[in-house]
Amino acid sequence: MSIETISLSGRKKQVSNKEMSFIERLYLVAIVKGLFITIRHLFKRKVTIKYPEEVRPRSEVYRGQHMLMRDDQGRERCTACGLCALSCPAEAITMKAEERKPEEKHLYREEKYASIYEINMLRCIFCGLCEEACPKQAIYLTKSKELVHTEYTREDFIYGKDKLVMPLEMAIANTKA
Ligand code: SF4
Ligand code: SF4
Repeated sequence: MSIETISLSGRKKQVSNKEMSFIERLYLVAIVKGLFITIRHLFKRKVTIKYPEEVRPRSEVYRGQHMLMRDDQGRERCTACGLCALSCPAEAITMKAEERKPEEKHLYREEKYASIYEINMLRCIFCGLCEEACPKQAIYLTKSKELVHTEYTREDFIYGKDKLVMPLEMAIANTKA
């Protein structure tokens, strides 16, 4: 009796349960065939790499970890308008807006700023839509080699301003350059 299988690829294969011959029952031919396949793969170009020691070359337009930018005076550019969160297809961004106090003018460029800004890196697909939606050029996906650090808990993958805001020294160095 033969069982007809359904093949999504269109290459149907007939499966037979006919009794095996003596030679077939020795499995020698099957073993040699299997070994031949294994040996053939030894000489093929490897498709795997020893990550993280080896890293594949990245494209020019590669998008790495996000950075919340500062302006040339070191002030945070983000005005907590929420457009990045709205445009995010993964719903990875959350934030809380606060009004800037007069004594905070040197910290935040706009009258409103994000007191909390979080990206859930487990959701993010690094599409860059948040960057494109931002009217203040406040968020960029950098060319950082690491996308996300390895962590042990889900909470650690929620990146807050401590991890996202551009370091002040970098903003100063950019101004000087
Ligand atoms: S890169 Fe894409 S998925 Fe990630 S936070 Fe930005 S919009 Fe959302
Ligand atoms: S990063 Fe840009 S788009 Fe997102 S809240 Fe800040 S200013 Fe608005």
